Parts: sequence; structure tokens; C-alpha cells
Amino acid sequence: MCSGRIDLAFVLRAFSNGMDGVFIGGCRLNECNYITQGNYDALNMVLLCRRIMEHIGLSPERLRIEFMTSGEGILLTEVINDFGKKVRELGPLGKGEEIDEGELKSKLEEVTKLVPYIKIVKREKLASRLENEEEYEGLFTKDEVDRLFSEVVSYHIDPEKCQACMICFRKCPAEAIIGAKNQIHVIDQEKCIKCGTCLEACPPRFGAVREISGEPVPPPIPEEERTIVRKKKGK
Ligand code: SF4
Ligand code: SF4
Repeated sequence: MCSGRIDLAFVLRAFSNGMDGVFIGGCRLNECNYITQGNYDALNMVLLCRRIMEHIGLSPERLRIEFMTSGEGILLTEVINDFGKKVRELGPLGKGEEIDEGELKSKLEEVTKLVPYIKIVKREKLASRLENEEEYEGLFTKDEVDRLFSEVVSYHIDPEKCQACMICFRKCPAEAIIGAKNQIHVIDQEKCIKCGTCLEACPPRFGAVREISGEPVPPPIPEEERTIVRKKKGK
């Protein structure tokens, strides 16, 4: 019902499924049918996605957003014809850019996995309300998006500090923390969406969760070494 519903992940999924181009049509800016102004959200998402496409070597012209009313059939036809022509000129996805098929697939998978993280890190800009087209170009820069990917963070639980209080386990929105009573907790990096909730949730007196950037994440301690043996009071 609203272009604001179109998630970054939907666009990446379309490309992962082999679409050569993605077109998004939304209501005119400031003429939202609801009160949400979701077309601004769609615009910001497209501006970010186009930079991400540049980052992985795809032409950003394969993604287009236009705003129009339901009465502008002729405009829609013109825009779609123009976009179709552009996509035909670009050729099949990846081939036009001379990216190896397997490499493109893994790049798209990698970026798709980071969508929740990207949305958290860029949440303020994704909520912008741009006044004019001149501002579109500068909302996200190429350097900024390159940096976003080179500085991706990971989270790790220090087994020496974890007290198995289970707070992070309960709060993790992705069920990425493996833990139980009296068991040192570990993070499943494959499931982790890098939201940082565990870092905030871990009580400061334990301080067991660490944010890591630019270095490998230590492997989780083996399952058989996770049990915490507590001393009984008075002994
Ligand atoms: S950062 Fe922590 S809370 Fe967030 S998904 Fe990863 S493990 Fe879960
Ligand atoms: S909140 Fe901290 S101390 Fe508690 S289980 Fe998680 S990592 Fe361990």
C-alpha cells in the first residue's frame, strides 16, 4: 500500500533472484495518502541502496524511484519505457558490469545479511526528509558506504567474564545467543544481526560483551568447557 514498506532487503532479494532492474513508484513527496510520508523513507532507502550497489560493483542505474499520482498514466508509461531502455542498455545483471556470477551472488548475500545492521547504523539518515533533488546526491556518499562495510562490528562474549546471568540471552532479538543457567554464553555469529543489544544489556559489573571491529572474532569456547562451577556460600 505504501512505498515506505519497501525494505532494502526486498530490493537486494530482487537482484539476488536475477532481476536486471528494480523500479519503485511512490506517491508524490508531501502528498502522502496517509500521515506516514513513507515515500521519503523509500527515497532514502533507494539512495542508500544505490551507493551499496556501487560498492559491490553494480550500476546504481539499475534501481530507480519515481513519484507520481495515480492519475499520471502517461508519465508512468514514459518513465517505465525510459527505465526499460536503460536496463536493456546496461545488459543482464552483473554481465554488464563484468562481475563474475559467483562473486556477485556472494556479495549480494553478504550485504543482505548486513541489512539489519546497516539500518541501525544509518537510522538517522534513513529518516531524513530531503527538501530538494540537490540534496539527494549528498545524503549518502561513496566513501561513507565503503567505510560502513570496512568497519562492520561484531560482538563477542568474553568467557572469562560471563556470569551466565542470561540477560543478553533473553534480550537478543535474533536468538543468536547460545546459553543456559550456569553455562557461559556464546554468540552464534551466523545468526547475529549486530544490533548491539547484548552489549547494552550485559551488567557493567560483568562487562562480558565486547564490540570488535577490524580484527577476527575469537572462536566460541568448546561446549564441554562452558559450565560454570560456583562455590557454595560459606565454603
Ligand atoms: S548483537 Fe548481540 S543482541 Fe544483537 S543479534 Fe547479535 S548477539 Fe543478539
Ligand atoms: S549479560 Fe553478560 S554476563 Fe550475563 S550472560 Fe550475557 S554476557 Fe554473560
